[in-house]
Amino acid sequence: MTSSPFDAWIRNDDELTSLLAQEWHRQTTTLQLIASENFASPAVLAATGSILTNKYAEGYPGRRYYGGNQVVDEVEDLARRRLTALFGADHANVQPHSGANANVAVYQALLEPGDTILAMRLDQGGHLTHGSPASITSKWWNFVSYGVTPRSDDPANPGELIDFDNVRELALQHRPKMILAGATAYSRLIEPAPFREIADEIGALLMFDSAHVAGLIAGGSHPNPVPYADVVAFTTHKTLRGPRGGAIVCREEHAKKIDSAVFPGQQGGPLEHAIAAKAVSFKEAAQPSFATYTDQIVANAQAFGAALAKEGFRNVSGGTENHMVLLDLREFDAELTGKVAQEVLDRAGITTNRNTIPDDPRSPFITSGLRVGSAAQTTAGMKEGEFETIAALISRALRHREDDAIVAEVRADVAEMCESFNPYANFTKQ
Ligand SMILES: *Cc1c(COP(=O)(O)O)cnc(C)c1O
Repeated sequence: MTSSPFDAWIRNDDELTSLLAQEWHRQTTTLQLIASENFASPAVLAATGSILTNKYAEGYPGRRYYGGNQVVDEVEDLARRRLTALFGADHANVQPHSGANANVAVYQALLEPGDTILAMRLDQGGHLTHGSPASITSKWWNFVSYGVTPRSDDPANPGELIDFDNVRELALQHRPKMILAGATAYSRLIEPAPFREIADEIGALLMFDSAHVAGLIAGGSHPNPVPYADVVAFTTHKTLRGPRGGAIVCREEHAKKIDSAVFPGQQGGPLEHAIAAKAVSFKEAAQPSFATYTDQIVANAQAFGAALAKEGFRNVSGGTENHMVLLDLREFDAELTGKVAQEVLDRAGITTNRNTIPDDPRSPFITSGLRVGSAAQTTAGMKEGEFETIAALISRALRHREDDAIVAEVRADVAEMCESFNPYANFTKQ
């Protein structure tokens, strides 16, 4: 597979060629279950490696600070047009270099330093940029955090769901200027309407951070927050399956402020090669086949979660409605930490990440949880049956984690599965 006509030139660089080959091997012989990862299409990779890399284009189409941007203007306009059409939005900004940049730009655009933002607790699913003490966001803005309801053993009402009573109570008490919906480790559907209702009650702005679920929204598997939110920010590389990067869509009334906050507020020259690749992915996400893909992502995650539950792993929030399953490891094995599980599974060729779970007694570095996602292996063509097999492999590796021979057997089974599901066998030339 080549990503550009210049691929062969890298072959003169033995060290880098060897590393790229090693990573190709890793990605195609082990299972990629990190919920925030995916396999971008060859077309996305080609655009990312294109000659647009060379161009400086500070500013926006028609208002650039450099010459020579006739073509680049059209590229960025194409990306913006495709994105506003995809989500039915008034305005799009496709320049953020990442999801974190997009979020900070939104805060900068619509808030003053010191203003209050009501967002999800980090230890219950929120993102670093939702006010982590380690993030610049918590130094510039005042975060108040809502959480999830307590866990219950009633299967009809499992708890660990966004606590809208808590959201409303905190909104009335703190009168935040902005309410932020969206999470990085939450397996249930996030309804935008109840957030809008609470925001309207106190006259707050509503921001939806759909970094994880942007693809599910584009495919129609999740409700579109655009009609409800003042602004929606997201990453383009998670379920949306584009290049690494961020994007923002917003109501017309916020367009100018958002654009100025991204450039010159946060960033210098935009990455037009990444913007071209975003345009490719927005077109891909508008195809009917993408809706089939995102429905399959959810079906696979649900089959995966159910199979893992049968193996003794408790599903946090009682199950999943998106692409991820958050596992509480303690009922499977009280001694097993997220850190150890992640390391054992790495040896077994199964790539995951440890994660805190609500009320986790262990530190964020150790954790009692493991987060797994279905988006990447669904791109590789896997269906419910394969995810059930993966659940059994995970269980076997973790149960026998002291036995190197069994972990090696699991790794061999994983490699065999991956042979039949090469992610790059499924893409057709467009
Ligand atoms: C991944 C994520 C981000 C940040 O995206 P980066 O591209 O890693 O900066 C922001 N918000 C949420 C909810 C995320 O899941």
